[in-house]
Amino acid sequence: MGKVTGFMEYERIEEGYKPVPERLKHFKEFVIGLDDAQANKQAARCMDCGTPFCNSGCPVNNIIPDFNDMVYQGDWKAAIDTLHSTNNFPEFTGRICPAPCEAACTLNVNDEAVGIKSIEHAIIDRAWAEGWVLAQPSKFKTGKRVAVVGSGPAGMAAAQQLARVGHDVTLFEKNDRVGGLLRYGIPDFKMEKSHIDRRVDQLVKEGVTIRTSVLIGELPKGSKVTNWAKETISAAQLQKDFDAVLLTGGSEQSRDLPVPGRELEGVHFAMEFLPQQNKVNAGDKLKGQLRADGKHVIVIGGGDTGSDCVGTSNRHGAVSVTQFEVMPQPPVEENRPMTWPYWPIKLRTSSSHDEGCDREFAISTKEFIGEKGKLTGLKTVRVEWKEGKMVEVAGSEQVLKADLVLLAMGFVNPVATVLEAFGVDKDGRGNAKASTEFTGGYVTNVPKVFAAGDIRRGQSLVVWAIREGRQAARSVDEYLMGASDLPR
Ligand SMILES: Cc1cc2nc3c(=O)[nH]c(=O)nc-3n(C[C@H](O)[C@H](O)[C@H](O)COP(=O)(O)OP(=O)(O)OC[C@H]3O[C@@H](n4cnc5c(N)ncnc54)[C@H](O)[C@@H]3O)c2cc1C
Ligand code: SF4
Repeated sequence: MGKVTGFMEYERIEEGYKPVPERLKHFKEFVIGLDDAQANKQAARCMDCGTPFCNSGCPVNNIIPDFNDMVYQGDWKAAIDTLHSTNNFPEFTGRICPAPCEAACTLNVNDEAVGIKSIEHAIIDRAWAEGWVLAQPSKFKTGKRVAVVGSGPAGMAAAQQLARVGHDVTLFEKNDRVGGLLRYGIPDFKMEKSHIDRRVDQLVKEGVTIRTSVLIGELPKGSKVTNWAKETISAAQLQKDFDAVLLTGGSEQSRDLPVPGRELEGVHFAMEFLPQQNKVNAGDKLKGQLRADGKHVIVIGGGDTGSDCVGTSNRHGAVSVTQFEVMPQPPVEENRPMTWPYWPIKLRTSSSHDEGCDREFAISTKEFIGEKGKLTGLKTVRVEWKEGKMVEVAGSEQVLKADLVLLAMGFVNPVATVLEAFGVDKDGRGNAKASTEFTGGYVTNVPKVFAAGDIRRGQSLVVWAIREGRQAARSVDEYLMGASDLPR
């Protein structure tokens, strides 16, 4: 432990943000990370408590007290080695993880948690700047061929782990670039895509073959899932050509709102809106980009995806942005003794909300209204929750003006045709059915076919996808070699 009295001497230090008027002019990151002196003090706040709850609160089980101590001692090289021992991509999580570790921090019982995520961010940015992040190609080859289908954080982490133990890995992606939702969901202002590009370069140097614009199986007819594939390979062909197949295709089926007027022009899924802006940011020319300029925008869905639509709409120059959440407004402060060390339900205000947004809670949409096929507004009703059931409040109906509605109500399950093409059994929610057992985990009912990430667990977080990708890689390695030295 660095400084025994650090947690009593120093306050929690938050990362800074560039001013709203400035950051609304572009799509670049605007978080100002900790400098060395701030990181030193922040790390000194860690109590190195006997049972580090943060370590189990973190889905990849980052060894947080150890890297905090190393940062406090100024040994940044040891800190990044420790961080990389559990997390392939700390620059992703250091930017966009909601940090369940901090909810579990012992200081959070009656004080402010250690800023673990900001320290993680500082360590990995320093490591890249120092040139410490190098490719680690395997010194030997096993001769085994593994196909990883889907290049989100689960697929990238699995591909890296498998290549580092000598397998010939091919990473297939139906979109034109690698990264999954990191690339075509999460806006650049939360995470610039150069972070993915650097890791792709590292994967290639480690021997991973990347094949973008290749769809494995097929999409359902009329699917609105992003797909820039130029080539299709059948499931049977993949099973023939590879010794193992790992499905990491995510959970891409957006939840719809099938109320009257859904067909009107101006009602879109968030995932029709967000990927287009990310493509434009990458320099692509799009015809008829779906934009929010000059529009009254209503975002339906109170989560991360909705918040990203708010930030993107404000950057486009929307006249007004309103976000709906069907659940009642949660408390601003959680009851910590009741919730610690678990993730509490409380009002979360994102940097995008701070940029300008009206937030409406306990509200439901009954109908989209339009003229000549175009959306002009929507009819809403206030709702209450009684005995777990949603009840409309009589007489609370209202019509609101809207030119653009973005549906951001989450994702129901993976696109079924991928699983069906392989004959993979689904669980009750339509996800790939596979356990997370230490031995034989991530195995589906189909011989040599594995599944991990959102395609298996349902819509989740980047940090969970990295965990599953790592763990599935170990399972695949064990299946191919009889034993594995890869960590879980
Ligand atoms: C808008 C938005 C914002 C989010 N913000 C955050 C956040 O701030 N923090 C956070 O932790 N999480 C966030 N998430 C959730 C997070 O992005 C996902 O949980 C995570 O990316 C899942 O990783 P994955 O690798 O399992 O799947 P994905 O990232 O979905 O990647 C799956 C990839 O597989 C490809 N694929 C699918 N089927 C095929 C096929 N048949 N052939 C070839 N390729 C295929 C897809 O094109 C995709 O690229 C957000 C999600 C969205 C939509
Ligand atoms: S990955 Fe997320 S949960 Fe884990 S230490 Fe980093 S911020 Fe915390």
